[in-house]
Amino acid sequence: AKDPVRVLVTGAAGQIGYALVPMIARGVMLGLDQPVILHMLDIPPAAESLNGVKMELIDAAFPLLKGVVATTDAVEACTGVNIAVMVGGFPRKEGMERKDVMSKNVSIYKSQASALEKYAAANCKVLVVANPANTNALILKEFAPSIPEKNITCLTRLDHNRALGQIAERLNIQVSDVKNVIIWGNHSSTQYPDVNHATVKTPGGEKPARELVAADDWLKGEFITTVQQRGAAIIKARKLSSALSAASAACDHIRDWVLGTPEGTWVSMGVYSDGSYNVPAGLIYSFPVTCRNGEWTIVQGLPIDEFSRKKMDATAVELTEEKALAYSCLS
Ligand code: NDP
Repeated sequence: AKDPVRVLVTGAAGQIGYALVPMIARGVMLGLDQPVILHMLDIPPAAESLNGVKMELIDAAFPLLKGVVATTDAVEACTGVNIAVMVGGFPRKEGMERKDVMSKNVSIYKSQASALEKYAAANCKVLVVANPANTNALILKEFAPSIPEKNITCLTRLDHNRALGQIAERLNIQVSDVKNVIIWGNHSSTQYPDVNHATVKTPGGEKPARELVAADDWLKGEFITTVQQRGAAIIKARKLSSALSAASAACDHIRDWVLGTPEGTWVSMGVYSDGSYNVPAGLIYSFPVTCRNGEWTIVQGLPIDEFSRKKMDATAVELTEEKALAYSCLS
């Protein structure tokens, strides 16, 4: 039998956390043959609720779940973890300035970076979900210099999955028959969902999604805004933000990273830019990646048209500004 993998979830008593921990315990993230030990961290006001989640995990009698650590102590939470899913963060409240939210989160991610750097297992893989996800991940990277930069990522898989879903709905086909959309840039409303390279499985072979949709105005307009604003649409409908789909996307992200992407398929991940596609190096930016042997690689050589270039640059500009704002909060 395999040794258990220790998975940290921060903000575990929150909405996404509540949807995510049972998925991890069921083997959705790491596979049905992989035992796990869950490490759940939250802040003291959420301690009682966190303990309730722990009780439910026990009651669910998950065969793969070999242990649960539920704590408000970052050191205890981070000790020995192989995977860290960072969901905890300060929510933007009405009337709060962008800078105030940034400042709260920068200090959270700075201190959690230190705890991970000191106490996590070697080669721990980190996924940041909490917003501003790209910039929180960048701060985490800066303050955990001994964690390889390749190990620090942020979630844009939900946006990627939303784009797949919109194409499938439009063409009235199965979502599993669509692949290779791309989310470029920031997990924010400036993200660029790109279908130029996406393909669809049809009875007559693989076809470009663009050709099948055959409505460039929709692809360049409503499709993009629907994906960008899907989170807001769900809040409006549910009076709560998207938690189920965010949790599922977090599992997809880690599963593909650890177990590999299927041949011929790429996914979107927020990763440390090396300057590929003329995206400024040193930002955490969402790219198309393939994964093998636990490592991601940016898909190279895709042709970028002028429309795409503008959108990719605009989201990079926003990330550069966020980075500057984050650093101004540190000083
Ligand atoms: P959620 O579980 O709904 O969301 C957690 C974070 O994920 C938020 O930053 C949220 O951003 C972000 N997020 C990213 N993508 C999505 C998405 N697609 N849909 C929804 N959210 C997304 O928030 P809760 O308030 O329920 O839970 C947060 C937990 O974090 C609480 O248990 C709280 O106690 C804890 N917390 C921890 C802190 C710390 O570690 N110091 C500080 C403050 C809270 P957005 O806000 O933009 O929706």
